[in-house]
Amino acid sequence: MGIIKAKNLIYNYIRQDEEDNTEEISEAVRDVSLDIREGEFVAILGHNGSGKSTLAKHMNALLLPTEGTIWIGGMDSRDEDHLWDIRQTAGMVFQNPDNQIIASVVEEDVGFGPENIGVPTEEIWKRVDECLKAVGMTAYRKKSPNRLSGGQKQRVAIAGVMAMEPKCIVLDEPTAMLDPNGRREVIRTVRELNRQKGITVILITHYMEEVINADRIIVMDEGEIVMEGTPEEIFSRVEELVRYRLDVPQVTELAYRLRKKGVPLSPCVLTVDEFVKELTEVYRAGKEG
Ligand code: ADP
Ligand code: MG
Repeated sequence: MGIIKAKNLIYNYIRQDEEDNTEEISEAVRDVSLDIREGEFVAILGHNGSGKSTLAKHMNALLLPTEGTIWIGGMDSRDEDHLWDIRQTAGMVFQNPDNQIIASVVEEDVGFGPENIGVPTEEIWKRVDECLKAVGMTAYRKKSPNRLSGGQKQRVAIAGVMAMEPKCIVLDEPTAMLDPNGRREVIRTVRELNRQKGITVILITHYMEEVINADRIIVMDEGEIVMEGTPEEIFSRVEELVRYRLDVPQVTELAYRLRKKGVPLSPCVLTVDEFVKELTEVYRAGKEG
């Protein structure tokens, strides 16, 4: 069994009137099964309302299945005795960094989680050092989070989750509120945590271009998994992606194709400007070498 495994997971939001009569049922997740290996980088793509957040909230027992089962680190999310272990196994990062940052100094914010669970002070500082370094925010440790850019705040939020030493980190549209620079910073950070620290990453997004480097892509539509495969496989099925209302940015597709042909472009090309810059560098390097 992988670090996260779901079997026939179903989740319905039920709205009731004042007399507890069911008014409306929204089938947000319909029969999802998946198995995510430890150390894997999985991206979950899908249009708005496809059930991504509902699924994500099951990975941390914020929601419990209507039917079916999800195991986190082998623990059934319904097992209340393990709630704490589950939350510590899978850390969550949400869309809005402002809602996740609590303290008025960056380093305190990162240390808040471990302090809360009684980690010894010396160990807390060690973790704060390491996590800030891992997200490239050491220089800002004494600063107020309010003064940071969106991308920097989100990296602090990621450091705060990392400080809890989860095996797995689930990011629900972490770049949705960021500009292209912030988005790139966050995606790069996440990738490095995965590659260098072996943290299992589940990245939820509706930006195609952010998933090029995943080991596996899962596409959701109307609560179901409708596509699954490596970036190579998924990116070659453009028509289906369009059918599921995902737009494949031309520049990403182009960079992707060139990379596949051996042109050493960074996998983080998100904009035309970046593409031009990267290509110019490749060209220069080619001329010099
Ligand atoms: P995504 O994250 O992919 O945008 P969600 O998981 O948020 O999708 O939503 C899936 C479906 O569930 C949508 O149809 C949405 O309207 C519905 N939904 C989400 N949250 C609630 C809620 N709190 N109450 C009722 N319906 C909800
Ligand atoms: Mg969502």
